[in-house]
Amino acid sequence: MSTKPRRRKNRPTIHDEVDDQRLHAECLARLDELGFSQLRRDHVYDFGWRYWKVGPNGLLASPLVASEYDAPVIVASCHHGHTPPSPECSCGIFYVHDMFHFTDTLDFLSGQPRFDASGIVATWGVALNGHEVDRSAERWGIRPRRTGRYRILGIMTGGPGFDLRKLRETYSCPLVEGINLKHAWAIESLWDETAPESFADVVKGHQSDRESYGTAPELSGLKQRHARESATEAAARLESKARR
Ligand SMILES: [Zn+2]
Repeated sequence: MSTKPRRRKNRPTIHDEVDDQRLHAECLARLDELGFSQLRRDHVYDFGWRYWKVGPNGLLASPLVASEYDAPVIVASCHHGHTPPSPECSCGIFYVHDMFHFTDTLDFLSGQPRFDASGIVATWGVALNGHEVDRSAERWGIRPRRTGRYRILGIMTGGPGFDLRKLRETYSCPLVEGINLKHAWAIESLWDETAPESFADVVKGHQSDRESYGTAPELSGLKQRHARESATEAAARLESKARR
């Protein structure tokens, strides 16, 4: 039996410095306290949360460009000629590996103007082809990761109005209404209860899942480069606007 997650006493502010060692130790201690498997504790950066908007077809869409994804494996593109995630550029699908950091950040954003928490969907997923860091988001006191192939494993929806059945079926994973820490923990621990023996088996289990490369980015007036911006980068930009 695992215990339920509790709020951290010292929640980060957006101005915290990143201390990788401390973050890593804290993350491991919480996973341990919550009863997560050795597989999860050995692969903390291979799993993580991100948030999305929902596009006109009721599918997950990048918060920044008009591109929708219609399959459970989201594949990143790179116009620099690399295979994401590459240390040579910052392309990839960004995510926050720690559910506490992720929900704290969304809590913070929910108090910001122009951020509609009811309009977003959060997903937890696994990085199928490795991960790199996202150093652009250091100001948040967290260190997001990015991957080239992100398999969605669970969904939390914001407010009402989403086609829940469509989301469940398209991304082939469990879904819960309401974005909060308890639900994030529920999604992660549900997966963990039936986790394969090794990470290689996790990847193998998803090798024939349908893939999505995103559709209709040309509908957006924004440049393609915005597609690789992370949720946290967007958050940082919102925060900076709010302070002006
Ligand atoms: Zn690139």
